[in-house]
Amino acid sequence: MRRLDGIVKPFILPGVFFQLIAFSPSLNSLLFSGVAGLATLLGGFLVTAAGSRYRGSVKYFMAVGAGFLLSLVFLEVVPETLSAVGKSFALWFLGGYLVIHLVEHSWAGHFHFGEEVHGEEVSRTSQAASLGLLVHSFLDGVSISAAYHFSSVVGVLMFVAIGLHKLPEGFTVASLNLAAGRSEKTALRWAGFLGLATLAGGGVSSFVYAYSPQLLSFSGGVALYVAASDLVPEVNRERGAKVPILVFAGVLLFYLTERLLHYLLEG
Ligand SMILES: [Zn+2]
Ligand SMILES: [Zn+2]
Repeated sequence: MRRLDGIVKPFILPGVFFQLIAFSPSLNSLLFSGVAGLATLLGGFLVTAAGSRYRGSVKYFMAVGAGFLLSLVFLEVVPETLSAVGKSFALWFLGGYLVIHLVEHSWAGHFHFGEEVHGEEVSRTSQAASLGLLVHSFLDGVSISAAYHFSSVVGVLMFVAIGLHKLPEGFTVASLNLAAGRSEKTALRWAGFLGLATLAGGGVSSFVYAYSPQLLSFSGGVALYVAASDLVPEVNRERGAKVPILVFAGVLLFYLTERLLHYLLEG
C-alpha cells in the first residue's frame, strides 16, 4: 500500500491544480495576472537589490518568451479567434498591435526592452516610457483574462507566454528609471506599479467581459508587438547565435506545453 502511495501521490497535487484551473475563469484570471505581476517585481529586484549577478539571465527569458509568444499568436490565437469573429478579426488584431506601438514608442520617443544604457536620452523621456509600459502591463492582464475566458488551454498558454516576458519587463522599467537618475527605491516602485497594473488588467477585464473573442483578437495583436517588435530586436542585439537560437527553444516549449494541456484539460 505504501509503495502504491508513493506512485499515486505525485499525481495528486498536479491533479488538484488542474481541477482548480478548470474551475472559475474569473478567479483564475485574477490569480494568473497576480503571479505574472509578481514576476515583474522580481525583474525590478534583478536590477536593484540583486546587483549585477543575475542580470545576464534576462536575455534568456526574452528569447524563450519571444518564441513562446509568437507560437501562441500564430498557432492558437489567430486561427481560433478568426473562426470565432470572422472578418472583423483583422481590425481588432491590427488595433492591438498599433496601441502598443503608440504607447511604447510614438509617445515616449526612446524605448527598448532590456538594460537601458542611454542615460542622456532617457533623462527627459523616462516618465513617458514608464507610463507606456504601465499601459502595456495592464493589457498583459487583459490578455490573460481574455484568453482564459476563451478556453482554459489558451488561458494557461497565455499565462506562461506573458509570464516569460514579465521578468524582462520589470528589469526594463527599473533599469530605465535608474538610467534617468532616479533612486533604486523609485525604480523598484515602478516595477511594483507594473505588477499591480497587470493584476488590475486581469481583474477589470474578467469582471467587465466574460467571453469576448474580439478582445482576444486584440490581445493577439498586442502579443505580436511584444514578441516581434519588442523582444526579438533585443534578442538579435546579442553577440553570437546562442541567444537568438533560444527563440526556437521557446517554440519547442510552446509545443510541449500545448500538447500537455490538451491532454490534461481536454483528455
Ligand atoms: Zn536606450
Ligand atoms: Zn508585458
